[in-house]
Amino acid sequence: DVEAALRPIDAARDILRRTFGHSEFRGLQASVIEEILAGRNALAVLPTGGGKSLCYQIPALVRPGLGLVVSPLIALMTDQVAALVQSGVAAARLDSNVDPAERAETWRRIEAGELDLLYVSPEGLMQPWMLDRLARTPLSILAIDEAHCVSQWGHDFRPEYRMLGRLAELFPGVPRLAVTATADARTRDDIRHELRLEGAAEFVASFARPELILSAERKRGNVEKRVLELVAARPERSGVIYAGSRDKTESLAAALRTAGVPALAYHAGLDKRVRAERLEEFLEADAAVMVATIAFGMGVDKPDVRFVIHADPPASIEAYWQEVGRAGRDGEPAEGITLYGAADMAWAFRRIAERDVDEGVKQTQGRKVRQLYAMLDGVNCRAAAVRRYFGEEGVEACGQCDICTGEVETIDVTVAAQKALSAAHRLGGRFGRGRVVDHLLGKTKDVSDWEAGLSTWGIGQDLSAPQWRDLTEQLLFEGLLKEDPNDGRPLVGLGDAEAVRAVFRGERAVLMRKPPEGAEAKGGRGRK
Ligand code: ADP
Ligand code: ZN
Repeated sequence: DVEAALRPIDAARDILRRTFGHSEFRGLQASVIEEILAGRNALAVLPTGGGKSLCYQIPALVRPGLGLVVSPLIALMTDQVAALVQSGVAAARLDSNVDPAERAETWRRIEAGELDLLYVSPEGLMQPWMLDRLARTPLSILAIDEAHCVSQWGHDFRPEYRMLGRLAELFPGVPRLAVTATADARTRDDIRHELRLEGAAEFVASFARPELILSAERKRGNVEKRVLELVAARPERSGVIYAGSRDKTESLAAALRTAGVPALAYHAGLDKRVRAERLEEFLEADAAVMVATIAFGMGVDKPDVRFVIHADPPASIEAYWQEVGRAGRDGEPAEGITLYGAADMAWAFRRIAERDVDEGVKQTQGRKVRQLYAMLDGVNCRAAAVRRYFGEEGVEACGQCDICTGEVETIDVTVAAQKALSAAHRLGGRFGRGRVVDHLLGKTKDVSDWEAGLSTWGIGQDLSAPQWRDLTEQLLFEGLLKEDPNDGRPLVGLGDAEAVRAVFRGERAVLMRKPPEGAEAKGGRGRK
């Protein structure tokens, strides 16, 4: 018969068109779906907006049985199920928000074989009675959404995801698909290991977002003023501004409104109803600015966001790409602008130090912070740096970020760096950054005989105070210096010993961005 002659992927394409209204598969969708339809496991890493959900929704409709989707957020499940039901798909969810009557009806449909897709939370799914009941139900696919939550290397770690590894033995023969938008090589290994996907084919899409125009600049002076300037230069456009605290979102939004910009604050401390209202207002506006903490994010899909400004830097390169990636979803040019400083980096390290996790995890998280700041403060194409970080090979410079288009000229400051490093060494980690600069310039107030007697006292008179401040900041970003938090009055000491030695031996050059023209006259506060 005709149906039988249809290849599985043709049946899938048919559903893509008839049920979802799309004419063709995008990117790696077809390959992922083919793998599942052949009954095999897979791991798919597709960027946000890459169409991950169809990768499991379609196999669930093509194959006989119930498709189970494990998802970490009730809001995401609710949205997806609502959209599916609207398209005429037999989908439902079982989470803590579902009332008993609806729950009973869902179970009835499951047991009658009427349901094609069921969304569950990991902790909900792994309850023994739930697994028992599902054991009697034929399954088409086990999909694990946001699979990076299983990895403790990332920032979204959810311990309950670890239990999902048991699905391999509980449901042998049911193809399992892990999908995520953010997984570097290490996280991918973790997903494979924890979710028992050892032999699974891996599909990693390109993370290129050619519509994104990226830039980053060090915080200098008043950050709020700088953000107002950036927004004022982009009138009548929608944007998202990420800020590091709830208070900051409120004060920034207020300052923007005073300046005549329709801005809203959004954070987890707001009443649920207020949040929903603001989200709706933002989604519907032609031009609105949302000033938010990272509570604003997953599942927000406004196609015409023209800029994302980080008033405070993100937590990692993964977070950066996800957050900046909320701009330009319509494929039209959009900007990602990040403001960052050494104090932000120090704060990130402090947060990690305070976490109640293994030492190894802390080290990895610390490395992620360092990688983020190396990218932000670096001299290489930003888009290329991010894509390489995600494991893409053969990546070329984007040609449009501030580095690619900028006059980023570098100067060799290895000798000055050696001076700063030996000063930090001689001062023995007892002083803050400002004091180290004073020492280099020989300008320490009421200097002690001990300090004045050090060989590094006043050896830095060839550079100005702002230049030394810039250089010490860069040395922090490169991990050559490090800051001990010391209860908010950070003390500067030497960083990675191996790297510091390499600089002293002249094996590692320290390159600095040439300061912009006129920067000196303005006391180092100028910018491009
Ligand atoms: P992700 O979960 O990867 O961020 P979604 O699955 O939500 O992405 O899909 C993002 C958007 O792309 C949705 O609006 C979806 O309808 C659309 N989409 C997905 N696949 C296709 C396709 N093959 N053709 C056209 N649009 C698609
Ligand atoms: Zn570039």
